[in-house]
Amino acid sequence: MKILIVNCGSSSLKGAVLDHASGARHASIKVERIGEPEPRMRINHGDWESIQADGHKLALEIGLSRLVAALPDDIKVDAVAHRVVHGGDAFDRPTVIDEDVEAAIEENFVLAPLHNPANLAGIKAAQQILPDVPHVAVFDTAFHSTLPNRAKNYAIPKSYAAEHRIRRYGFHGNSHHYVALKAAEYMEADERDLRIITCHLGNGCSVAAVEFGRSVETSMGMTPLEGLVMGTRVGDIDPGILLTMLRNGMDVDELDRFLNKECGLAGLSGVGNDMRDIEERAADGDDACRQAIQVFSHRVRKYIGSYAAVMGGVDAIVFTAGIGENSSQARHRIAQRLEYMGAVLDEDANRDASVDKFDNPVAEISSRNSRVRILVVATDEQFQIAKDAANHLIEEQRSHGELTIPVAVSARHVHLTQEAVEGLFGEGYQLTERNPLSQPGQFACNETVTVVGPKRQLERVRILGPTRSKNQVEISRTDEFYLGIDAPVRASGDVANSPGCTLIGTDGRTVELKEGVICAWRHIHMTPEDAELFGVQDRDVVEVAVSSGGRDLVFGDVLVRVKSSYKLEMHIDTDEGNAAELSKGAEGALISTDQSAHLTRRRTKYD
Ligand code: AMP
Repeated sequence: MKILIVNCGSSSLKGAVLDHASGARHASIKVERIGEPEPRMRINHGDWESIQADGHKLALEIGLSRLVAALPDDIKVDAVAHRVVHGGDAFDRPTVIDEDVEAAIEENFVLAPLHNPANLAGIKAAQQILPDVPHVAVFDTAFHSTLPNRAKNYAIPKSYAAEHRIRRYGFHGNSHHYVALKAAEYMEADERDLRIITCHLGNGCSVAAVEFGRSVETSMGMTPLEGLVMGTRVGDIDPGILLTMLRNGMDVDELDRFLNKECGLAGLSGVGNDMRDIEERAADGDDACRQAIQVFSHRVRKYIGSYAAVMGGVDAIVFTAGIGENSSQARHRIAQRLEYMGAVLDEDANRDASVDKFDNPVAEISSRNSRVRILVVATDEQFQIAKDAANHLIEEQRSHGELTIPVAVSARHVHLTQEAVEGLFGEGYQLTERNPLSQPGQFACNETVTVVGPKRQLERVRILGPTRSKNQVEISRTDEFYLGIDAPVRASGDVANSPGCTLIGTDGRTVELKEGVICAWRHIHMTPEDAELFGVQDRDVVEVAVSSGGRDLVFGDVLVRVKSSYKLEMHIDTDEGNAAELSKGAEGALISTDQSAHLTRRRTKYD
């Protein structure tokens, strides 16, 4: 699916069109200074151009329509995914946006006054530009919806907390989720077997404890103010200090601005929030900058230690985002003294680490004797948002039976080796094509054979080409009774120890098959892309419902076969087609998968 990602801030818009499966970008846009005197934008990282737009809404609409116009001709947007910062209690997963969802996002303005209004403005603008595709909200808080109560609750009276929805929600969920999955992939492990501490260190900073694939602790709380020292946000602070400030005469808006904009690295260093400048000045001997780095690193190390304690151990520590991916100095300082927990940094690897989200997303910086792997991972929140939105839409389509599979009824037929072809039709004989079949490269031949069983024979049975490495005669149960052959239900190619038969070609030439007569195991051919859409894998066994007006049927035990050369189609035999009274153009809906039980019983080989 091609997903347009909209990430709308109070004065900026970042947008991109991505392929949800590969993460490849087809176009991108950045709009800045929205609502200010001279808004500007750049498409596909090109030059900045000014936008003639009075007001926020118009600037967003212009930006989004330029993004869509910048797409190559063959790329169409299938859906829009909106990054929404605060989902509150209402959303723990991606959600298709309707009026109720918009109202719920608005209800959460109070929880994220800087972010949610901008996110909603982006939703409204994108709906104007792309009214005919689904719009999905993907929440920064959703990944942390698995926080246990002991991590969620502040120690304030329950009734007050409930009335004002005060609890810890956590943010940067798309980034934490993405890098945890990427780390597991790099470690060739299932994320459900790992305890990972993910450190998102950018302008905003947060740490998460991802235990067996679920977020169980994170440093940001009800708002993104809690936790680490950030670019301009204060992070953890004694609440008594806030009381002192209020008593000193600061009003609420001033306090808000102070805590969000004037603290953190900027407040400590006195030179701004850019870690690069702070590191440069620290190297030149600036005491305030040195202290800013020390406080920043100390706080991250403190969280790592506490999250190892929370999870009762740790398998990997991941650094990501602007500082985490680029500052070897910050990583070096943070990882000091973590040896006690088995995390040992390789200083050379740390200095040399360089990641980018496309070609080199992971760098390992732990030493060989480190029990805990230390990784630098290039985050890609847009890709995670695209994947989550697309998977949600696919799941919805699947549950509504909207993802259908064409069903084809296969009449009895024969696959032959070249040797058998020559035995039946003469030396050097080549099969000739009568018509192509739906599976690419397969064809029905002009040639037919007679299939002879102990009881009777079936004439003019069609040969399918091209020739194969094994002979195979595919017949229905009814054919079996007629011929007097007791053939097993098998996947194509799995003919070992099946019964044989006699084939008669032209001029009375015969070939004796020792084995090869089967009743084909009903199956679906699909490409890897289809498999992803349907959420299945090669050799899964699934159920497919067919509707035929009066004789609806659910086929169980349907084998999934995945190959990039296949075309999506379910194949059943004539008995099965007749049982459901299927006619040409029939379709089925995949209704359930049963991947494990059948697989262990019937793991099979096929061509
Ligand atoms: P982000 O919010 O992920 O874009 O990260 C922004 C932060 O990353 C800023 O504080 C930058 O100073 C910091 N950053 C980016 N590149 C480097 C670098 N090479 N060294 C240190 N900090 C960096």
